[in-house]
Amino acid sequence: VQRNSMEPEFLQAVKEILDSLLPILAKETKYRENGILERLVEPERLISFRVPWVDDQGKVQVNRGYRVQFNSAIGPYKGGIRFHPSVNASIVKFLGFEQIFKNALTGQPIGGGKGGSDFDPKGRSDREIMNFTQSFMTELYRYLGPDVDVPAGDIGVGAREVGYMFGQYRRIRGAYEAGVLTGKGIGYGGSLGRKEATGAGLVYFMREMLNGAGLSFQGASVVVSGSGNVAIYAMEKAIEFGAKVVACSDSSGYIYDRNGLNLDTVKRLKEVERKRISEYVNEHPGSEYYEGCSGIWTIPCDIALPCATQNEIDETSARQLIENGVKAVGEGANMPSTLEAIDVFLNGNVLFAPAKAANAGGVSVSSLEMAQNGMKLAWSAEEVDEKLQGIMADIYRSAMAASQEYGVPGNLVAGSNIAGFQKVAEAMLAQGVI
Ligand code: NDP
Repeated sequence: VQRNSMEPEFLQAVKEILDSLLPILAKETKYRENGILERLVEPERLISFRVPWVDDQGKVQVNRGYRVQFNSAIGPYKGGIRFHPSVNASIVKFLGFEQIFKNALTGQPIGGGKGGSDFDPKGRSDREIMNFTQSFMTELYRYLGPDVDVPAGDIGVGAREVGYMFGQYRRIRGAYEAGVLTGKGIGYGGSLGRKEATGAGLVYFMREMLNGAGLSFQGASVVVSGSGNVAIYAMEKAIEFGAKVVACSDSSGYIYDRNGLNLDTVKRLKEVERKRISEYVNEHPGSEYYEGCSGIWTIPCDIALPCATQNEIDETSARQLIENGVKAVGEGANMPSTLEAIDVFLNGNVLFAPAKAANAGGVSVSSLEMAQNGMKLAWSAEEVDEKLQGIMADIYRSAMAASQEYGVPGNLVAGSNIAGFQKVAEAMLAQGVI
């Protein structure tokens, strides 16, 4: 704790995971020996670097770039790149640490990593985004490779940024290593279904969990926070499954329509026009817009899907959701619920799907993208979707089975951490002290 005292998000993530591993650590002494835990919480490598670039006014700007290569016991480091002013070593370490277990849980051969920069893409021109992204990759490329470390998108990094990163990597390397990045455009090695995978995968996971309790999306009212990549495709799949999505948000505020939102408008505003979500009410007079983010959790709903950012649901919001009758909560974002909020859900008779399991669809399809790149072929959208559904159902089953085996039945926070941990710990034990 002392060594990382300046890193609250990282400490929060480590505490959440280690606490939930207590049942397996109590039962299996081998995981308490050989420095497994001590090695697990220390990244194999943390890279921090200068990213100088020139803005449209000709002024030199300097940002800080990061890549944490956390654990490669079961495969090359894998995890997204985030461009957001809040990015620092603590944030990338918390995300990278979580990624180890999530990636293990997918059943795919991928280790844990994460990266990003405190660069704020908001209001930047396309040329500035390209200048920045190329400079970022000019330093990062030396640490990457299809069998070494394979980044992808995250907050602030979508298809455009991945494209610029891939272009710059290819230019410097002088070779076409398609598998070095995932989330690429379909025309140059991207996988069909990747864009939709995290949101759709979340809903597939929720379907399994709801089924287990005799519930479904049909007729349910759903609140989704965010209106980015994860949120949009979670909304799309939930609507396809018969749900009514009544609210979504961005970092300024949220929109609410008790009769159900029009997803086409949300998609156009956010994906094409890159506007604020508040614009929605100008086109749909029956809907309402509210400033601020946490108010979205005061809206009554059957299913809540936080898909925006970390710590967006605190204890108060969690209690409010339960008071309003929420039956299930599924985390699309990484760590959107505080530890206190998770406790409230677990003790409150709510079905709770933790991010590590529920949002693993994105990285799963990224891994499928790497497989396609390795084989130099491309699967159809149907093939990818079928595999994704299978993977999400498997993740649900293994998290549920681990929760039962280690005496916390139905607690998927513990179950998914335990299942992911066990796979990584076994590989670390087999490979010796490295
Ligand atoms: P995007 O950048 O596409 O969207 C993020 C959304 O959240 C935007 O609507 C954004 O609003 C909103 N948001 C950002 N910060 C805040 C804040 N502080 N308060 C309220 N809203 C906020 O990112 P993604 O959809 O890709 O990622 C969302 C979450 O899902 C992240 O936690 C990410 O780590 C996680 N995730 C993403 C995966 C993926 O495949 N994309 C895979 C697994 C996890 P605004 O437009 O105003 O910035």
